[in-house]
Amino acid sequence: MDNIKHLEEKIWQLDLKVDNEKEFIAPYLIKVGEEFIVVDVGPTCGIEELINQLSFMKVTPDNLKYVFLTHIHLDHSGGLGTFLKYFNKTKVIVHRRGVPHLIDPDKVLWQSSLDTLGWVAEMYQKPEPVKEDLIIPINDKTFDIEVNGHEFVWIETPGHASHHFSFMMMENKIMFCGDSVGMFIPGLDDAMVPTTPHPYRIESGINSINEMVKLNPLKLAFAHHAIRPNADRLLKKHIDQLKAWEICVKDCIKKKITNEEEVAIELSGVDPESARLFQSKKDFGGLRKALIGSITGFINLVSQE
Ligand SMILES: [Zn+2]
Repeated sequence: MDNIKHLEEKIWQLDLKVDNEKEFIAPYLIKVGEEFIVVDVGPTCGIEELINQLSFMKVTPDNLKYVFLTHIHLDHSGGLGTFLKYFNKTKVIVHRRGVPHLIDPDKVLWQSSLDTLGWVAEMYQKPEPVKEDLIIPINDKTFDIEVNGHEFVWIETPGHASHHFSFMMMENKIMFCGDSVGMFIPGLDDAMVPTTPHPYRIESGINSINEMVKLNPLKLAFAHHAIRPNADRLLKKHIDQLKAWEICVKDCIKKKITNEEEVAIELSGVDPESARLFQSKKDFGGLRKALIGSITGFINLVSQE
C-alpha cells in the first residue's frame, strides 16, 4: 500500500487521504512486542480506509492494545466510536476532560465543530458515541504507561486545546506532539505552521513547548504530518514563530486589519513558512482552513488583551 510509510523501527505512518488530500490526516501505528497502538484514529470519514490499512498491517481486534489520543478534535478522534465497533476490545487513553465529549459527541463536540470548522466538519462527518468502559482517562498532568516493555511518558500540553496531551516513546525519544507544535508539511518544503484555533492561549501554548524541551526529545512526530529530527531546534523555533505571530497580529489590529485573509498577507511578511501554505497554488483545502483558523485564534487572543 503506497500510503503506509515505515518511518522508524517500530513506527508506521498511515495516510487516510481524507478529502482526497495526502499529507493531512495521518495516524501513527506503533508496534509494541506482538501488539499495536494507534495514535489518533482520525475523523469518521477516514475510518474505512484506516481499517483497510490496519488489516494490511495485520492489526486485528485481538492485537490492537490501545488507541492513544492526543486530543479530541474531530480530525483526531471523530471516528473513534465507529472504529471501536470493530476494534471492540481496544482501550483508549485520553485526557479526562475529553471523556464526556467522546461518550456523548452530540451534546457539545459536534455542534462546536460545525461552528468552528464549517464545511470541514461536514466532510469529517458526525462522530458516533464511544462506550465509556473502553476509556482510560488521564486525571493528572503526567502519566506513565509501560506496554509490553515499552515505556511512554505523557505530559499535559494545553494551548491548541485545553485537554491536549503529548507523549514520548522513551526508547527512541520520539515525542508525539499532536497539534501542540503546529503542523509540519513536507509537501511545502517542510513548512511549520501554527495551529492555534480559538480559544487559543499563547502562555499555556509556550509553556507546554518548554515542558517538552525539558524531556529532551530527539524527534517530533507531528500529527499533521511527519517525524523530524532536531526536536529541540524545532520546539524553540516554534516558540519564536508564535511570538512573531503575536506581534504581527497585534500590529494588524492596531491598523484595523481584522479580516483573516488580509492578516494572512501581513503574516506572510514575517513568517515565510506559513506564507508557503497561504500562497500555495495547490489546493491544501483542510490545511489552509486550519491556517485561517489559527489566525482567528490569534485575532481573538490579542483583541481580548
Ligand atoms: Zn489536528
